[in-house]
Amino acid sequence: MDIELNEEQKAFVQLAKDFAYGVFAPHAAQWDQEEIFPRDALREAGTLGLCSLYASTEIGGLGLSRLDASLVFEEMAAIDPSTTAFLTIHNMATWMVGLWGSARLRKDWGPFLATGEKLASYCLTEPDAGSDAASLRTSAELKNDCYVLNGAKAFISGAGETDLLIVMARTGAAGASGISAFAVPANTPGITYGRKERKMGWNSQSTRAITFDQVEVPLEYLLGQEGEGFKIAMRGLDGGRINIASCSVGAAQGAIDTAKTYMQGRKQFNQTLTSFQALQFKFADMVTHTVAARQMVRLAACKLDSGAADASTYCAMAKRFATDAGFTVCLDAQQLLGGYGYLKDYPLERLVRDTRVHQILEGTNEIMRVIIARHVLEKDGDLK
Ligand SMILES: Cc1cc2nc3c(=O)[nH]c(=O)nc-3n(C[C@H](O)[C@H](O)[C@H](O)COP(=O)(O)OP(=O)(O)OC[C@H]3O[C@@H](n4cnc5c(N)ncnc54)[C@H](O)[C@@H]3O)c2cc1C
Repeated sequence: MDIELNEEQKAFVQLAKDFAYGVFAPHAAQWDQEEIFPRDALREAGTLGLCSLYASTEIGGLGLSRLDASLVFEEMAAIDPSTTAFLTIHNMATWMVGLWGSARLRKDWGPFLATGEKLASYCLTEPDAGSDAASLRTSAELKNDCYVLNGAKAFISGAGETDLLIVMARTGAAGASGISAFAVPANTPGITYGRKERKMGWNSQSTRAITFDQVEVPLEYLLGQEGEGFKIAMRGLDGGRINIASCSVGAAQGAIDTAKTYMQGRKQFNQTLTSFQALQFKFADMVTHTVAARQMVRLAACKLDSGAADASTYCAMAKRFATDAGFTVCLDAQQLLGGYGYLKDYPLERLVRDTRVHQILEGTNEIMRVIIARHVLEKDGDLK
């Protein structure tokens, strides 16, 4: 792994930064406050390739590495973790269509997803199947010329706003091997959406339950083969965990930047806050934890890019570490601003609210520990 970014990566980082400052920064607080889903901003992101960073070039994606994508998401999340996180989910779904979609699905949807003209959601969680996702019950029955889906999903990001749903459903026996993955147009008859969930953060994107009642899906909208759905879902989440971890690192950096400027300007006891050693130490720890998290995320991304056998475990470690570090750094930065950190005039309280959920979704951090412990204790992996 090369620790220094190459010229191309530096250019992507600059592009993402310019985009985030130009398009996200003026509106992020309003999107959060008024719970606005910024479809136009996402379309604009699509014109720059930001909706299909690592999707195949065949469907119009940029075909970049996971490391490259991580760098881009990090920059954007420094300004708006919520909107960036939705973009990462859309990127994941688009990559899935490019990699496992049939020729027809890739033709019907690929170019529209790649440009952000159409947006996608990822639907794995169910009301009774969260951490134990392999116990999901939504069914997909093969009937003549289509699959018929019945069941319910919960907590789906973007639901009600997106155009395509990547749905994991049961086509076979109990357990992971009985699950298949489908691309389901979001307006197919029989799909109904629950109320918009009221959340602590991630307010620029909707979260809704979805019900499927006799929903007909074309045979060619199956991703991969029957029975491969759980593997596909987990492959998606390996990268998804790097993405969400990148959003945490970005948010932490955004919090550090805001706290630094504030500390340099704020005077108490005739001195700037930067002169108090207690605050210097807190700040030093915030920077150290963010740098450590960033390196861990980039290492996991490199492992995934190179197809390393232990990549999933590194993704789990990076997700666990970076999302815990990111939340704590945002909380510490809020403290450094005193009462002002509690006000919506500054972005800190939003960064705290937005990064909290990163410890919960794409697999909770407890489940990340289960994955890591299993690798070391049961499979005797050394992770050196
Ligand atoms: C805002 C938001 C957006 C989301 N977006 C999506 C989305 O787009 N698509 C999607 O499919 N899902 C999405 N989710 C769902 C998310 O992935 C789940 O909430 C998460 O996986 C946990 O599942 P659960 O809520 O059912 O909790 P549970 O699985 O019921 O877990 C409850 C608690 O028990 C712990 N626990 C469970 N099993 C174990 C174990 N074996 N060992 C130790 N601890 C354990 C958990 O860590 C947690 O602390 C979203 C969730 C939220 C909050």
